[in-house]
Amino acid sequence: MKKFLLSVLFFTFFLTKVFSQIEEDNRPVMIGEWTQDALNELRNYELNQKFEKHNFRATTQRSDTINLLHFDIHLTVGNGLNQTIAGYSIVEFKSLMNNVSQLYLDLLKLNVDSVIQNGQPLTFNYSDSTILKINLQSAMMQNDSSAVTVYYHGHPFNDNSFGGVYFNGDFGFNVGMSLYENPHNMGRTWHPCYDNFVERSTYEFHITCDSQRMALCNGALLDTAHNSDGTITWHWKMNETLPTFIAGFAVSKFTPVHDTFNGINGPVPVLFGAISADTTAMKNSFANLETCFHYFEDHYGAYPWNKIGFNCLPFNSGAMEHAGSVVYPQFACDGSLYYEDLYAHEFGHHWWGDYVTPYDPSEIWLKEGWAVFSEFLFYEGVYGAASYKSHVADNHEIALHYDHVFDLGYCPLSPMPAYTIFGRTTYTKSADVVHTLRTYMVDSLFFGCLKSFVQSHAFQNYTSVELRDYLSNCSGISLDNFFNDWVFSAGFPHFSIDSFNVADQGNGWYTVTTYIRQRLDHAPHFYHHVPLELTFMNDEMQSSVYKVDVSGPCTVYQTAVPFNPVFAGLDLENKISDAITDEYHVIKNVATNNFPQGKMNMYVYTVNDSAFLRVEHNWIAPDPMKVQIPNLHLSQERYWRVDGILSDSFDAKASIQYNGSNVQPVTSYNGGYLDRALITNVEDSLVVMYRPSVSADWQIDTDVLFNYQGSHTDKKGLIWINHIKPGEYTLAIFQHNKVDSLITPVSDSCFTIINVKDFSPEEKISIYPNPSQNQFTIEGNLLNQSTLEIFSLLGEKIYSQNLPKGIMKTKINCGNFGTGIFLIRISDSEKNIIVRKQVIIQN
Ligand SMILES: [Zn+2]
Repeated sequence: MKKFLLSVLFFTFFLTKVFSQIEEDNRPVMIGEWTQDALNELRNYELNQKFEKHNFRATTQRSDTINLLHFDIHLTVGNGLNQTIAGYSIVEFKSLMNNVSQLYLDLLKLNVDSVIQNGQPLTFNYSDSTILKINLQSAMMQNDSSAVTVYYHGHPFNDNSFGGVYFNGDFGFNVGMSLYENPHNMGRTWHPCYDNFVERSTYEFHITCDSQRMALCNGALLDTAHNSDGTITWHWKMNETLPTFIAGFAVSKFTPVHDTFNGINGPVPVLFGAISADTTAMKNSFANLETCFHYFEDHYGAYPWNKIGFNCLPFNSGAMEHAGSVVYPQFACDGSLYYEDLYAHEFGHHWWGDYVTPYDPSEIWLKEGWAVFSEFLFYEGVYGAASYKSHVADNHEIALHYDHVFDLGYCPLSPMPAYTIFGRTTYTKSADVVHTLRTYMVDSLFFGCLKSFVQSHAFQNYTSVELRDYLSNCSGISLDNFFNDWVFSAGFPHFSIDSFNVADQGNGWYTVTTYIRQRLDHAPHFYHHVPLELTFMNDEMQSSVYKVDVSGPCTVYQTAVPFNPVFAGLDLENKISDAITDEYHVIKNVATNNFPQGKMNMYVYTVNDSAFLRVEHNWIAPDPMKVQIPNLHLSQERYWRVDGILSDSFDAKASIQYNGSNVQPVTSYNGGYLDRALITNVEDSLVVMYRPSVSADWQIDTDVLFNYQGSHTDKKGLIWINHIKPGEYTLAIFQHNKVDSLITPVSDSCFTIINVKDFSPEEKISIYPNPSQNQFTIEGNLLNQSTLEIFSLLGEKIYSQNLPKGIMKTKINCGNFGTGIFLIRISDSEKNIIVRKQVIIQN
């Protein structure tokens, strides 16, 4: 579902007056797949705590007792414009247990006239207008089948924003999912059913309306009957099983437009349901649907439904993925391509959500994350790889910047807390994580296994654990760490290069040792086996890319590079969604160069030849100051890193913005929430901090210019850094008595081993055996008396001793170290590190 809500008043206004001729400027503002108004309304709802945690009504359990096989629904819809439905539904079912004598069906706020089984009336209780409790004729035994016919009528319910049955002007239609109701499925607003994610039934629809209107439903149109009272009954049938939230009808004066796409399994009929005034615009707006269809079939497998259908309806809160009969807002059928990602999203649901369905709402990311990823895939298929990349990057920025603000904290994807099922994390971070999974698995295995997954789970529900196990088995890549890190835990990892050392082998090759550090952005534990791309470049911008398996707080990676690297960078192409947004440019001219993902703008004064410049915006606290400056507080929220291949003559002026405002509504992605903890009072005492490398301490950069942009208390402004330099920048503020938020303790395992001087050839040190058990030997020749220290990968010093000058040999008992990789450091009395090695201990 793509959601955007409007208030009731707004709703009516839009419906009747505006949507037929929307001006471009008046287009509803969409935040991802919702309108801004929709998000505001949901957020208010959440803030008022109207959702109790994990309180979904247990309709799922009823599916263990009885299987609802088929619905044959006969309804007169609209009956003129009196906004009612009336008729009956035949529910065919099978008992899954012995001695089942009652059938409980969800049905919301309608009037039940009678219930019939085998031609005989049954007793029933519908006193709560919520569950229709039917006493069957006799107790059923396991595998017994039967059918009841429920006669009912009434004015069907909707939740005023998203979900239920809507009547508007010439239109009557349902929306199968609600943001607010419990359970979220809304099948019960128009027919008796089990409103859960696991029950799947076939459907037959006999929808009767006046002769000027037609009814569009899931499945295929079998026939139409002209009734003696002048009405027409439209008979549709859906042979594939559906859960209730994707079944539906739409009634209006449609002039449907038909098309056919040639799919993997043959021709697929396409039906655009629109009133005549909208048909041309609708076709134009869907100009790229066929390309999208082929691209999705190529990547997810054959389209699994018997028709493609989108119905343009006066529904202004968003769209809903009814299988082959999508509820699509009229305003998005405007002739432009402005809302393309909206139909791409709903179309993606035809695999993710409709064909394979999450087990319950706490697993909602299994459909929404994949539908948003389908938007990215749409951009890739229609507009190319760069378009995919830029949409992933924009989404990633939102995930880091706003998800936790909107969702009142950092949430795992599964289980998603009930109060924020339809929050931002469900959509934004989920899609980020699917993109990252693509990187973990590599395209051929990723898409190959997705295809076989949806086929093997066709028309069934699934959980995150089942997806994990299936994809692991299919690809041969264990995804346990991936799911523990990215899906079952909140927050993000952050990866950076502390330092790298180059040793010339003398044969054209260079041995490069890179120290990769992991820090955490609200994640509960370090991530493991993250496949990160590490790129080296020499001063002529020749580059070489290596895939590094990164685990824990510090990963030491050694490789041979066929040139002398002067630059090392992680994940330049943003294939892993860690807590960094960044971009790089090759700069050839004196000009303005903006780095929106790096949140830095730049004006280049001088550049000789060309420069390679990368700007990172890091969404975690910078390292603390080594030596504190009284009353100076570093940002706990972010820092920048500027890096690249720059000649000495390169000179540029950069600007960064600070914004500690809590912009309301939170849903407008307009730049606030960046320096909330830092700027709590006035801005006057802000300063810019700079350090050239991780080993250096922060210093105040005085060559800057502040533009407070308005008042000194609005917490917003612009800072010019007159001469940008490679290194790290962050903000700090002088403030007496300010209490910093809790700083994540910094592991220094990567710190301890930086700044190694090249030791002289005489200082040969060897460690053996390696791997070791119980004991290993350090042997060699030291020019000075030195200190031996051994660290765990967590940076904890577990052993130290002095080593004599000259030829020496020392046995180290390591039987109590435990098993793992340990870092050995030998430094002289001046604290110069002269040896750094790893030893693997297998006790
Ligand atoms: Zn959706």
